[in-house]
Amino acid sequence: MQVQNKRSPKVVIIGAGMTGMLVAIKLREAGIHDIVILEKKDNIGGTWRENTYPGVACDIPAHMYTYSFEPNPNWSHRFAHGDEIQAYFEHVANKYKVLPIIRFNEAVISCHFNDAKWTLKTSKDETYMADFVVSATGILHHPAMPNIPGLESFKGACFHTAEWDHSVTLKDKNVGVIGTGSTAAQAIPEVIKEAGKVSIFQRTPQWLVNLPNKGFSEKTKARWRQKPQMLKRLHRWYTFGVEQTFSKAVIGKKFQHALVNILCRLNLWLSIKDPVLRAKLKPNYRVGCKRIIVNSTFYDAIQKPNAELVTEGIQKIVPEGVITQDGKLHPLDVLVLSTGFHPFNFMRPMDLRGKNGVKIDERWGRKVQAYRSLLIPEFPNFFLMLGPNTPIGNFSVIAMSEVQTEYVLKLIKQWQAKEFDEVSATQVALENFNVYLKDGMKNTVWLGGCQSWYLDEDGDPAMWPYSWKQWVKEMEEPNMRDLLTE
Ligand code: NAP
Repeated sequence: MQVQNKRSPKVVIIGAGMTGMLVAIKLREAGIHDIVILEKKDNIGGTWRENTYPGVACDIPAHMYTYSFEPNPNWSHRFAHGDEIQAYFEHVANKYKVLPIIRFNEAVISCHFNDAKWTLKTSKDETYMADFVVSATGILHHPAMPNIPGLESFKGACFHTAEWDHSVTLKDKNVGVIGTGSTAAQAIPEVIKEAGKVSIFQRTPQWLVNLPNKGFSEKTKARWRQKPQMLKRLHRWYTFGVEQTFSKAVIGKKFQHALVNILCRLNLWLSIKDPVLRAKLKPNYRVGCKRIIVNSTFYDAIQKPNAELVTEGIQKIVPEGVITQDGKLHPLDVLVLSTGFHPFNFMRPMDLRGKNGVKIDERWGRKVQAYRSLLIPEFPNFFLMLGPNTPIGNFSVIAMSEVQTEYVLKLIKQWQAKEFDEVSATQVALENFNVYLKDGMKNTVWLGGCQSWYLDEDGDPAMWPYSWKQWVKEMEEPNMRDLLTE
């Protein structure tokens, strides 16, 4: 759009992770330079800065888990290790000169809307004014501690995987790991390599698919450096591959579900020799109901002589270890909590208030909702990146953030052209969107008889129940009839 006499917005981005940096880069490309990123910690990277547990990696192919505008010829493996991913984001931050606009160690305490402006106050007692706020705080960043009696009484080292204590040595120790989700499946094989004995406390088994973690030779990487168009092709190829398989499998496409179902069942059958152990590891719910774990090391590791899979429920934790429902004490030196995250907090506990002082907790009540996962009625000029219902079955969140960023830019450009001062979603549009989501959920596997972090308090999956292509199409242009502009 060619805009005459356009005005320039002040934008505050909350969070310097993958999404926050992306939004800043794209805003600048669009000629918007009055940008500040407020970051609560001392470095960029979000998830990849926080999660340093042994074995941390991305289970999305690395060449797909990159910004589309910054392919990376240097990935060492198909599924990149966490520190490589962190290094990639640091490279991007340097190359695109994002660092100078970040205020580190500055958590947003409050964010209030008044007279078409946002006022943000931070932990450093600073105040920022903004025309737009982009909340890029991520989804899984509030560690969930298990509510197990006696947890605080444990006398050994005890930490959550997202807060791994690297000062604790595991060598020859008795280590307990609670949880068997995506994180645990990556961490446990590494812990087993080092520790004396590892007790894995499994409440619910998981479906795992084994996609080998191919390493890339120096020759291959050199070729990619010379021919970056090959990397773009690889990005497109992986995107197509994941979309056509995993993403379709979970939204009710029968053929794709049958395929992934067979892959998971074969993996279990071929990998686990002992029928008793196999039975313990076999889930009783549909493949994909919980997030499908892409992993090639967990089944091997669990069969090592120093590994023990404990399926008796946990009764309590005592200073010496874990006591299971059968009364048995599992003596432990170290207890690792791989118990997941609170996925519905988003930017909270920040004190966020929209029009007429309405608080986000009042607005949401027990139901976290956003129109198009991005816009909240009564919270004008506020964009909730990767909001509720964005996770798209085993898809790259980078691709999702890129699509959302384009949508946000389109609205900001309209503001620049003075088409409005404030934009938010109408209540009716939000309600219609929710009905549309609910309708799509009927076909998905997330209601397939399991508990998972996908489900909210009412048992509704906070996921996108249609295809990736459909999401992209619907996000192409803001539908102004659904938006309230003033
Ligand atoms: P999660 O999938 O929520 O798994 C948490 C685990 O802890 C489950 O096994 C759960 O058992 C168990 N648990 C929780 N509370 C418990 C309790 N009180 N007693 C016993 N067990 C308890 O968490 P996560 O493994 O951290 O993964 C979360 C998400 O992070 C993934 O789904 C994925 O989206 C993302 N992730 C991605 C990657 C990647 O490579 N891209 C890697 C790691 C994580 P139940 O199943 O019985 O609830």
